[in-house]
Amino acid sequence: MATGSGLVLTAVVLLSMALDLVQMPMAYFFLLYTMIWLGNLCFPLMISYDINLLFKDPSLTIPQLIWHTFTNTISIYLVPELQNVFLMYYLLVVLFGAFRMQKRGFFIVGGFILLCYTTVMLVHQLSGAGAEIKEQSLISLFFIFMLVGVSIIGTEISSLRWALKKRNAEMNEVMKQAKEQAITDDLTGLYNRRHLMAILRHQQALAYRGEYVFSLCFVDLDHFKQVNDRYGHKAGDEVLQTFADIARNCVREVDFVARLGGEEFVLVLVQTPLEGACLVAERLRLSMEQARLDILAPGHRVTASIGVTQYRPKESIEETMHRADIAVYSAKNRGRNQLVSDHELEHY
Ligand code: GH3
Ligand code: MG
Ligand code: MG
Repeated sequence: MATGSGLVLTAVVLLSMALDLVQMPMAYFFLLYTMIWLGNLCFPLMISYDINLLFKDPSLTIPQLIWHTFTNTISIYLVPELQNVFLMYYLLVVLFGAFRMQKRGFFIVGGFILLCYTTVMLVHQLSGAGAEIKEQSLISLFFIFMLVGVSIIGTEISSLRWALKKRNAEMNEVMKQAKEQAITDDLTGLYNRRHLMAILRHQQALAYRGEYVFSLCFVDLDHFKQVNDRYGHKAGDEVLQTFADIARNCVREVDFVARLGGEEFVLVLVQTPLEGACLVAERLRLSMEQARLDILAPGHRVTASIGVTQYRPKESIEETMHRADIAVYSAKNRGRNQLVSDHELEHY
């Protein structure tokens, strides 16, 4: 936008040149405008080569506004007859500040505009090129009034933008937290049942044709009711948290651990056939068996029964879950603290 405005400004001066309003030798004039355009193009070049990112304000607002104030002052110097037109350009420069600047920026740019404007007016008056002094004073007074007004409006717009930006950032943070909460279980921080179903549907879609495999481990803690009964619900909660930590540590980064509810958990092992899943399940069973649970009486171990199954192409998620459930049930019947895989199940 700034470069576009610069183009319009140059076009006005070039037109004035064509209309003989500029008293400057052609060669000097072109030299001057070559320099001005080298300056104008610095900004888009810096932005396209990412040099602007080295600065605190990457949009380079204040430097750009200072530069455009300077080139506009040159325009007033060259074409005093059009001073009123160029005064409007100063106001446009200030309005650009509403995008990024804060109060301090408006003081800097507004102050610089006043300095430039006063200087060029003095030069004009001394050289006799300016308007009559009474007329000039009126124009200057009204311009200063407009400059202050536009700066105040610019500050207001800019503070609205900052407030909006801050609000947006806060909203994003809240949204992120809400999303996180919607998929996790409060007690253990594992995924909840709802998210587990979404994970399973996705895995099913990947594995439906049979080229991709994944496995499930259903885990049910043994005699967990006794833990609650002997040590209280809070101690039971701590054991559940300890189990969650152990389970998280037993799987790879890409796998999923979810709490189905109560003392029942599911591990989703991606790209893993049954044999691999049995290794993970055994590692988990052993870790739980050996875990030190300080909150319980010395020597009181909490063990887990685990059912392991591999997804079979074209079956529904419910069928896979049911098979895993049967496997856990079978592990309980065989004496708990062990794993049963669907290999060992008859009729399944
Ligand atoms: P089994 O070996 O047959 O699985 O015996 P169990 O006692 O683990 O089985 P049961 O399903 O009868 O008991 C599960 C217990 O888990 C019942 C309930 O008190 C406890 N429980 C469920 N949810 C929570 C929870 O969020 N916190 C705590 N502390 N206990 C829970
Ligand atoms: Mg249970
Ligand atoms: Mg249980």
